[in-house]
Amino acid sequence: MKSLPQEDLYAKIFNNALVAIGTTDTKGNFIAVNPAWCKALGWAEEETNTLNIKDITLAEEQQTLNQELSKLAEGKVCSLRKTQRYKRKDGSIFWADLYRSALFDDKGKVMGILDIFVDIDVQVRSEKVQGELFQSLETLNKELSNANIGLKRQAKYDSLTGLYNRWVMEEMLNKEIIHSLETNRGFAVGIADIDDFKMVNDTYGHDCGDLVLVKLTQSFLQKIRVTDSVCRWGGEEFLFLFPETIEQGAMIVVERIRKSIEELNIDYKGNLIKVTITIGVSFYNGQDNLDGKELVNRADKALYKGKSEGKNKVVFS
Ligand code: GH3
Ligand code: MG
Ligand code: MG
Repeated sequence: MKSLPQEDLYAKIFNNALVAIGTTDTKGNFIAVNPAWCKALGWAEEETNTLNIKDITLAEEQQTLNQELSKLAEGKVCSLRKTQRYKRKDGSIFWADLYRSALFDDKGKVMGILDIFVDIDVQVRSEKVQGELFQSLETLNKELSNANIGLKRQAKYDSLTGLYNRWVMEEMLNKEIIHSLETNRGFAVGIADIDDFKMVNDTYGHDCGDLVLVKLTQSFLQKIRVTDSVCRWGGEEFLFLFPETIEQGAMIVVERIRKSIEELNIDYKGNLIKVTITIGVSFYNGQDNLDGKELVNRADKALYKGKSEGKNKVVFS
């Protein structure tokens, strides 16, 4: 290959490079730019004689530029690399990957600045879109997972009283039967129904009825042991589960619950509300061939016996 004089070779590299090359003095006034630089920024080469680096820099980045130029000019740094925006002649803006370095004269003194950059606007914008997309997917994901927690809660708990709902209790009952068969230890189930609750709603309104349900719940939770459970079985019916409880023990705790409600004073907008409950109780003896539903049916029958016998009672099946 025929070799070129070195000056010619450098000129060819400068003119044919696909990367934009621009050189300025230490004050940012352009000395030389290559065709790729002109193409990227929209200025003709001859126009750059009077152009300063500030003319292609965004207003908000001028201060950083000044600091960088000073540091390079003073020899505090020799080079830097950064992703930054450039302003074209027509005012449009693009992102570039920039290598900025000091130009030294033969004596090692800084004589100017050399900027070499590549337009990476498409890449940056697509990364931005991807980032935004990712962000909105993250948000959506969080919303979905919150909604899921809400649904799970709704599926498990009664919204008015915060107690377990019927479906959870049915599961607990069946588990307790298995546990009871394994240990041969019985347990008790009690179903409580508010006496003449319709009258409370009819006299003081539905909100008052709701308050009564909440107050009863608080009272129940104070009276049962930590190992016992209570759920809202239906509208104004509560189901109690007393694990490992023999008949005598159940009798004491259920009667205590009934009495505590009888003695409960509920204030609704200055009105004293008094209610009573009737409770039907059934037992699982650790051997019976019964399922949870049948056990509750037995308690339910006892409950209705109590209702027909005058209410505010505990009845054993
Ligand atoms: P009994 O002594 O025979 O149980 O009579 P009762 O009036 O309590 O029984 P009934 O089953 O006839 O009525 C139950 C009432 O409970 C009817 C219904 O409006 C009310 N109820 C059920 N769920 C709710 C609730 O969440 N809030 C309110 N305020 N009332 C409820
Ligand atoms: Mg009822
Ligand atoms: Mg009732």
